[in-house]
Formats: sequence, structure tokens, C-alpha cells
Amino acid sequence: MRKPVIAGNWKMYKTLAETASFIEKIKPAAEKADHCEVVVAPPFTALAAAAQAARGSKVKVAAQDVHWDKEGAHTGDIAPGMLLDAGCTHVIIGHSERRQDHGETDENVNRKVKAALKAGLIPIVCVGETLAEREGGRTQEVLACQFQGGLAGLTPSEFSRIMMAYEPVWAIGTGRTATPEMAAESHRFLREQARKAFGASEAEALRILYGGSVKPENVAALMAQGEIDGALVGGASLKAESFSAIVNYPRD
Ligand code: PEP
Repeated sequence: MRKPVIAGNWKMYKTLAETASFIEKIKPAAEKADHCEVVVAPPFTALAAAAQAARGSKVKVAAQDVHWDKEGAHTGDIAPGMLLDAGCTHVIIGHSERRQDHGETDENVNRKVKAALKAGLIPIVCVGETLAEREGGRTQEVLACQFQGGLAGLTPSEFSRIMMAYEPVWAIGTGRTATPEMAAESHRFLREQARKAFGASEAEALRILYGGSVKPENVAALMAQGEIDGALVGGASLKAESFSAIVNYPRD
């Protein structure tokens, strides 16, 4: 059984005061949610405040990116140890906005994943195709490339400490969600990649979150797919009410 994970990616939103107030507001929903793990990913400036507000609760804190070096002359970057120091347990790596805005490559994703694992952080590794790639029939080719490039050289034991997020780029922030069947098909494909590269039990245990315009109205249908092990939520994770509703999505 894979325990679902509901993670909120705040992107470049929220001040320190808004962070503390948001965490207080979602605590009751998180405490009620025995069925899933709850993670929020504030911007770097609010990580320590989020971790402090979340202390003693079920809410875990993720960063939205990390550098692969332990320290050094990398202006504007943050090292894995600094994220731990701020109270993070997880880190999002390879989000499509990093790939698009900052030229993130699979090779850099790979370095970041290895560095995060070494530091004891849980990487949430994002993959997903653009609209042109989907329409060109290249979805699986792109996913295979991102999977193999981003996770190259991991041992099965290291692989068992990561989670993945399938986020079709055309569904992020657009209000256009992949159908549950479409998402499940890509998740199945990624699990098959995992089986080939790392083994059957590692693939079976891998949690793959879906991301792309998840909202309180569509989360239950997505989560009803056995292949979907959680959600990485952008826009709808910014309001405590909608994030709480997603965390406690209707279940049979
Ligand atoms: C995301 O940023 O990872 C995301 C899925 O955003 P949204 O939910 O707004 O589409």
C-alpha cells in the first residue's frame, strides 16, 4: 500500500506572516488526514517560518529547488544542508517552471537528486511533457528521457527514498487538467520505467503524484485511480480552505 501525499507548491507567493497564518489554518485538516501525508513548499524566505509553525503537527515542509553543492560560490542558490537547517524534509526538483525559466536540465536534476538524498532530504522529482510533445505523440519518449536522465546512477535503495510528480506542462496553471485516465497512463509508464531500472518492489513502492490544475472539484476522481498516489498542487494550495479540502478529498 502506498500512502498518498498531498503537497502544495506555493511558487513565488506568501510572506512570513501569511505563511504562519496559513499553516495554523491547515493544521486541523492535516491532523484529521490519517490517509495521507501533507507537505507544503513555501519560497526559500518562508521555509524556516513554515517549519516553525508546523512543528509538532503532521505538516512537512519542502523547498522548491536545491543546489547540488554543499556550499560554494553560487549566488542565489541554496545548499541541501541549508534546507535541513531551515527545517525542510522534502525538496521539489526539476519542476517544469525551473526547466523553462532557468534552463534546468536532466543532468542538473540528477545532481540535485543525488545531493538531496545524501543530505537526507526526500526529493520530489517532477517530469512531464509540453503540449507540443503530447500532440506530437512524444509523451512517453519525453518521460523516459527525463526519468532516465534525472535518476541515472541511483541505487535501488536510493531510488526507494524519492517520490515523483507527473506534471504535464500544459496542465500547470492553465485550469486544463489531464483526465484521470490520461494521468494514470503516464503513471503506469513511469512505474514501468522504475521497474526496469530499479526492480519490481521499488517500482511498486514508488509514490507518483499527479500535478496540473488539481482542485477540490477534481481531486477525488484523480485519486480514485490506483496509479495516482497523491497530488502536487499549485494554485489551489494557496488558500487554506481549498488546500484543506484537497487534503481531505472524498474517499469511499
Ligand atoms: C504546480 O505548480 O506544480 C502545479 C501543478 O500548479 P497548478 O496546480 O496551479 O496547475
